[in-house]
Amino acid sequence: MSTFKAPKGTYDLIPPQSAQYLAVREAIAAPLRNSGYGYIETPGFENVELFARGVGESTDIVTKEMYAFETKGGDRLALRPEGTASVLRAALEANLHKAGNLPVKLWYSGSYYRYERPQKGRYRHFSQVGAEAIGAEDPALDAELIILADQAYRSLGLRQFRILLNSLGDAECRPVYRAALQDFLRGLDLDEDTLRRAEINPLRVLDDKRESVQKQLTGAPLLRDYLCDACKAYHEEVRELITAAGVAFEDDPKLVRGLDYYTRTTFEFVHDGLGSQSAVGGGGRYDGLSEMIGGPALPSVGWALGVDRTVLALEAEGVELDLPSTTSVFAVPLGEEARRVLFAKVTELRKVGVAADFSYGGKGLKAAMKAANRSGARYALVLGERDLAEGQVQVKDMESGEQTAVGLNEVVAELESRL
Ligand code: AMP
Repeated sequence: MSTFKAPKGTYDLIPPQSAQYLAVREAIAAPLRNSGYGYIETPGFENVELFARGVGESTDIVTKEMYAFETKGGDRLALRPEGTASVLRAALEANLHKAGNLPVKLWYSGSYYRYERPQKGRYRHFSQVGAEAIGAEDPALDAELIILADQAYRSLGLRQFRILLNSLGDAECRPVYRAALQDFLRGLDLDEDTLRRAEINPLRVLDDKRESVQKQLTGAPLLRDYLCDACKAYHEEVRELITAAGVAFEDDPKLVRGLDYYTRTTFEFVHDGLGSQSAVGGGGRYDGLSEMIGGPALPSVGWALGVDRTVLALEAEGVELDLPSTTSVFAVPLGEEARRVLFAKVTELRKVGVAADFSYGGKGLKAAMKAANRSGARYALVLGERDLAEGQVQVKDMESGEQTAVGLNEVVAELESRL
């Protein structure tokens, strides 16, 4: 061990488990790629003001959890705590919304940073795959994203997840609700912090996890009773489309989520095997965000799914991803000349697309065959001095143990056809 350890709240992805993470990222991305979403990558840090305005001044993410710093050049930056604000910033900067093809559909995958109290499923560095559909107000788009997330989880074999759905209203009806909720909250026995939050962003109090608070919220007014006709109709259409797609969901009238920018459709994916950090993903519509960061009106919808927690959910359900071994052929040279010849064969195999590895470090036969076994390769190629003299190489089937001699000039084609 070195003197150093991974910083608090972080962990390393290490083989073989790291393959699970890659597979999860792939599985989440696949339905998006298949549905017209283009890949976008933005910097790991942004102007701090983007998040303050975009995510919300009163959110925990901005007030407590952001890694904000000043550069030597005097810029105020922050490691990105989430993806939506950056993606929208980038889309606006590149004028993607002006290309005349709305919605702009984008997907991303990357690392995010929040200075949180670490626990299982909650880290200071974590990984998300996300999708944003920018510039269209269409319930089918909200439905599409929910359906694609459901498809991603199902393709991984997850079953014990639930989709919680709510509508947060819009600029017309939410202020009326907000005032009613504020009135209600002012009459409760709440600590100073929470009362302050009730003044700045009362909806977020609904999200308070403390039982003492939740108990008092029993009779709180609910947004669904305040939705304007347009929001009601929109939400009903989203619900119908998801239902028609055979995707089960639960209405959760108290779902608000920890980011300020959401309007109308809001959803969260929770997994019942994860204990307190049960949210595996979430998202919703954010019709006002573009204007909040200085852009034009661009109604949009998106989600982000947590890769770390999805992997934990797989573990909780005992799902083993069927990940084929990455190495197909493992080459074992015995002697100097064999090493040169076989190394060239490995290079050739790799060129034609056969995954091949090599026994390095001049190992003897026994240790090299152990390495071949560990690699999970289907075939071992063993080249000794006598084989070399005869212009052939031993091809050992690692499953059956059967061994055949194949001409050195034919072995690449032979393996290509066998695999
Ligand atoms: P949020 O933007 O907070 O809704 O996060 C979206 C998803 O990212 C969550 O559902 C989690 O799966 C994941 N996530 C958020 N914060 C963390 C964290 N600190 N550690 C691990 N995963 C996280």
